[in-house]
Amino acid sequence: AELPLEELIATLAVDVPDFPTPGVLFRDLTPVFAHGAAFRRMVEGLAAPQQADPRAAAVAHADDRGASDPGFDVVVGVEARGFLLAAAVALHAGVGVVPVRKAGKLPRERVSADYALEYGTASIEMHTDSLRAGQRVLLVDDVLATGGTLAAALALVEELGAVVTAVSVVIELTELGGRARLAPHAVHSLWAT
Ligand code: AMP
Repeated sequence: AELPLEELIATLAVDVPDFPTPGVLFRDLTPVFAHGAAFRRMVEGLAAPQQADPRAAAVAHADDRGASDPGFDVVVGVEARGFLLAAAVALHAGVGVVPVRKAGKLPRERVSADYALEYGTASIEMHTDSLRAGQRVLLVDDVLATGGTLAAALALVEELGAVVTAVSVVIELTELGGRARLAPHAVHSLWAT
């Protein structure tokens, strides 16, 4: 029988103590990405946030777009590991993908947000014309830690007038309270630990 997805992720992911700074237990997902079956199941899971969250399903189908509607019009991925996931999720769902990038990478008019990380601080940006008002967004990243990164990405999406219908992550580090920080937005995690 097939392993439950969260067990497969837990088996393949590698915990690295004290990286990148002392006291941080870094969850390295690169072996999960490198495993064909795990990657496929992870992408399918991230693309179906409404399966885990009735609230997201209600939003997704509020305007009767039908059962083939994935519930979002575009996937927004956060640099850098979020890019690997977001592009695959978008292809799987039949929609486009938009990057949230670290400061200084996007060439045209942009919006930016500063935020605190579990380790350090950072600034992220999006092109002003990368989303249209009212577009439904699935926000994707690999790890939800404190939620600072995704909260900042969410603020950028909303600044552009788009609507985040769901947030999908592979791993949610529950002790760090990221889910509460993103409320009332629904968080879909493949493995909460
Ligand atoms: P946060 O803003 O605290 O939720 O941190 C989320 C971002 O930092 C994600 O893009 C993760 O890739 C990365 N990150 C934070 N903590 C960890 C961790 N313990 N293991 C792996 N990645 C992490």
